[in-house]
Amino acid sequence: MLNSLLSVLAPPFCGHCHIFLTKRELLCSSCFENIESVFSTRIGPLKVHAVSGYDYPLSSLINKSYETSLQLGTLLWERSVSLLEADYLIPVPRHTSEILKKGYSASVVMAQEISRLSGIPVSECIQRVKPALKKGLYTKVEHHRYTQDAFRVVPDISEIEGKRVVLIDEVCSSGSTLVEVAKQVGLGRPRSIEAVVACRMLG
Ligand SMILES: [Zn+2]
Repeated sequence: MLNSLLSVLAPPFCGHCHIFLTKRELLCSSCFENIESVFSTRIGPLKVHAVSGYDYPLSSLINKSYETSLQLGTLLWERSVSLLEADYLIPVPRHTSEILKKGYSASVVMAQEISRLSGIPVSECIQRVKPALKKGLYTKVEHHRYTQDAFRVVPDISEIEGKRVVLIDEVCSSGSTLVEVAKQVGLGRPRSIEAVVACRMLG
């Protein structure tokens, strides 16, 4: 919480090259122009829209601070979510232990910011019941197996029935997390499920 307070009070600098900005923004205009354009891929039946690959400058802003999460939310709205038809935003949930450690959930902060800008409501109908595995220590297969029962739906998910829902997260790597969340969301019988992330790791 202190961290997020400090970042809100701190003067605005470009998140990548650190030049001073006259207005609070994620990146200065020249770094902003270096972001690749939005692209979409499919992971099984799930369509995943990414603002960028896992490349500079955006990759350096992932999991950085409360404020960068807010700004990534703005970027996701401007570059991707505004082009989709969405009735509900669903943040890919973090485990309670991670939220307590950081003081916030990056995906929830992003989704709430998109909601503030767009008026599209946020549904927190999915919970993470197992903490995320440490990165780099496990194979894709182990990660996939572990993730299979990492999420569950809340008892009442009737709000998303027949709705177009969009999953929100910072990063998609193998995609197994998004696929598992989409499976759980599917239990609520939405009309469609798509996902929007800031960075997509390919290969
Ligand atoms: Zn810059």
